[in-house]
Amino acid sequence: TVRVRFAPSPTGHLHIGSARTALFNFLFARKHGGKYILRIEDTDTSRNRADAVEGFIDGFKWLGLKWDEGPDIGGEYGPYTCMERLDIYRRYIERLLEEGKAYYCYCTKEELDRERQEANARGKVYRYSGKCAHLDEETRNRYEREGRPRTIRFRVPENREIVFRDLIRGEVRFHTKDMGDFVIVKSNGVPLYNLAVTIDDALMKITHVIRGEEHLSNTPAQLLLYEAFGWDPPEFGHLPLILNESGKKLSKRDETVMQFIEQYRESGYLPEALNNYLALLGWSPPGEYAEQEIFSMDELIRLFSFDRVSKAGAIFDPEKLKWMNGEYIKKLDIDTLTDMALPYLQEHYGIERLDREWAKQLVALYQPSLSHLKELPRLAELFFRDDVRHDEEAIEVLNQPSVPVVLPAFRAKVAEMEDAEFQPAGIKKALKGIQKETGYKGKQLFMPIRAAVTGQTHGPDLNQTLSLLGREKVLRRIEQVLE
Ligand code: GLU
Repeated sequence: TVRVRFAPSPTGHLHIGSARTALFNFLFARKHGGKYILRIEDTDTSRNRADAVEGFIDGFKWLGLKWDEGPDIGGEYGPYTCMERLDIYRRYIERLLEEGKAYYCYCTKEELDRERQEANARGKVYRYSGKCAHLDEETRNRYEREGRPRTIRFRVPENREIVFRDLIRGEVRFHTKDMGDFVIVKSNGVPLYNLAVTIDDALMKITHVIRGEEHLSNTPAQLLLYEAFGWDPPEFGHLPLILNESGKKLSKRDETVMQFIEQYRESGYLPEALNNYLALLGWSPPGEYAEQEIFSMDELIRLFSFDRVSKAGAIFDPEKLKWMNGEYIKKLDIDTLTDMALPYLQEHYGIERLDREWAKQLVALYQPSLSHLKELPRLAELFFRDDVRHDEEAIEVLNQPSVPVVLPAFRAKVAEMEDAEFQPAGIKKALKGIQKETGYKGKQLFMPIRAAVTGQTHGPDLNQTLSLLGREKVLRRIEQVLE
């Protein structure tokens, strides 16, 4: 049975790239009725952040990517956090040392820096010289007596080609002549990523390793470790990079686009929309679905396969994600959307409790054009201000010849209407009446009213907007313009 894992390092917030990797693992596992495992790779202790794991767990729960085994729920192959597996690693490290497949290295940082500099000066790619690969007894004892720190290095076999079939990239070749004996255990006894990941994946019976392209170059080291332990390697699939609009690798430090799941959550994006968008970041649906962009999780699970994952980098387009989120917002029933939107309005305008019925109508008014919830308070600002600010286009409209005729007529109508009449249907009737009286219709009639009352020339349905603003406010704003 299929067993896949997502193995983040707890170094920060949950990034969209990590979420995509998790999603692809999840889809593949669900498609094949397999297991999806969360493992925390925290061996690079200097980079760990205390609250990161909690953040991941929160983020994945919100996205709905539930794992079958993991640090919070356990499982048959635990523990699921690397730093709790040190005893396990130790046994396997011993084995490599005993079999001469690994050795202690006593080179100091200064010595290694010198080696690196020399290689660079000769324009060569640096590989470890192998200085400690064959130390004699005497030298070793001396280093030990001196109490030199020691790392453990893997003895890379000479002159070997390493070939494997990547699920996405097809045949990939590496050569051991380009690899130095790499460190597998730091001087503090903690294994490095390549060793830990190999032992963990093997012991957890992982069948497919699906991860970002940045790990492609780690794969030959891991394959050599599988071989050294006499284990069958899993299949590997390396997902394409995520690029920014200008085709460069999206960097976590790039502050021009939101890149963390938490930010999307706070901005009022829906997890379903985010999953849908991330699924299309490097994967494309099969032919008959080529035109379709909105996919439910069930559809994604059914349609997902690696042969439709591209090798080429995938461009992250925040505008498209916005659009997609809007599509999901349109599908929400109005009560659910109101529940979600209320806190955004209340917080933004410092209102303790908005009238729910009123808010529901407001939300309904903006539902067709809303891309994410955080946008609503700003879009609906005209409903929360006492006065009205006219933008340039509105001012232009208010200079049209129909204005001195239409606005006073409208003011008179509104002034004599009952509050109860001031509903979309009643307003529509009133406007019809003005049309008859003045001869102005269409844009010449509606635009001055819209511009005067909302301060803008664009917006949701006019009759509903006016009704929701209420008679008093509308009247006051018309008067403000006529003064
Ligand atoms: N801990 C690695 C990362 O966060 C995962 C590598 C892997 O999946 O093998 O990038």
